[in-house]
Amino acid sequence: MNNINSNKENQFDVIVVGSGMSGGWAAKEFTEKGFNTLVLERGRNIEHGDYPTATMEPWNDDQNMVIDPKVIDENPILSKCYAFGRATEHHFVKDNEHPYVQVKPFDWIKGYQVGGKSLMWARQVQRWSDLDFTANAKDGHGVDWPIRYADLAPWYSYVEKFAGISGNKDGLEQIPDGEFLPAMDMNCVETSLKEKIEAKFPFTNYISARTANISQRHNERGPCMYRSRCERGCPFGGYFSANSSTLPAAKKTGNMTLRPHSVVHSVIYDDAKEKAIGVKVIDANTKEMTEYYSKVIFLNAGTLNTTGILLNSKSERFPKGLGNEHDVLGRYLMITITGEA
Ligand SMILES: Cc1cc2nc3c(=O)[nH]c(=O)nc-3n(C[C@H](O)[C@H](O)[C@H](O)COP(=O)(O)OP(=O)(O)OC[C@H]3O[C@@H](n4cnc5c(N)ncnc54)[C@H](O)[C@@H]3O)c2cc1C
Repeated sequence: MNNINSNKENQFDVIVVGSGMSGGWAAKEFTEKGFNTLVLERGRNIEHGDYPTATMEPWNDDQNMVIDPKVIDENPILSKCYAFGRATEHHFVKDNEHPYVQVKPFDWIKGYQVGGKSLMWARQVQRWSDLDFTANAKDGHGVDWPIRYADLAPWYSYVEKFAGISGNKDGLEQIPDGEFLPAMDMNCVETSLKEKIEAKFPFTNYISARTANISQRHNERGPCMYRSRCERGCPFGGYFSANSSTLPAAKKTGNMTLRPHSVVHSVIYDDAKEKAIGVKVIDANTKEMTEYYSKVIFLNAGTLNTTGILLNSKSERFPKGLGNEHDVLGRYLMITITGEA
């Protein structure tokens, strides 16, 4: 089962674990700066455009695109997610494929494939403001944020310019403006609702959400065709995903090696060097174990999987998992839940 080798071909400048939202960005940034980058992804490959249901109509499908009630019964947690359905089910990890062990309900939605959850997300991208960064300190809860909005603002801009975000400049302190493509027009119902809400509640602002659906052609993608089928994957690149945007940019540099079906088990910590030096990877098909080495190891496997990898990464120095000297790893996690991630 173990086939540990340390060949030169297993040596990279950077290892990125996970190819979803954050892993795609990491791959783009490192490869564009000239680093030989290995991207390890536990799921199968999905090339941009390889979306089998993207243009499928009900009459093309023997179930008329209606999900089998048996699938709903077999997936009680996953079925709570609004985006899970007949046309999208191949992007979601089924409840029994990766069983949940829950003491209290915790609806954790997973997408194990190249692109991760960036294929399935709802594309809502509002900036945080200083009200968010200072709220807990003002209320006397937790630890004050070490950063403020001004520190992040240039990075929001950097991401928005590449991703393509549609929205209006509304001039609201609580939801700062960004580098937007034109907003999508409100329809007549929304316009009427806006007028009525703002007239009745003068301190309320009814605005268009800032969304990663592009309202005009952007970076050789799109525009959005308003088909409302995003979670199937968009062959036009009408919304931002790792598959449509960051991974193709990384691939273009010639510096990326993308290895699907590669489940990262743990980070290798060298007690003598006092450094993380690589990762142990299990091939999802053959179950063979391989080691890869690099100076930089960037874990982008999603909140819980990244935590799992760190807990698995035991060494003399870190017997409870990498960086887990105080036994807090995995105890204070933040993840988007309630019907989403
Ligand atoms: C239905 C839905 C709607 C959402 N809507 C929004 C929204 O509107 N706005 C918003 O901001 N966010 C939204 N989110 C949340 C958003 O998608 C996630 O926060 C984001 O994708 C997290 O990025 P990530 O890179 O951490 O993880 P992911 O995008 O999940 O990527 C992690 C990748 O790591 C891989 N991986 C995991 N374990 C391993 C391992 N051991 N070895 C190798 N690879 C591994 C996974 O297969 C996956 O490809 C939504 C999520 C869902 C499911």
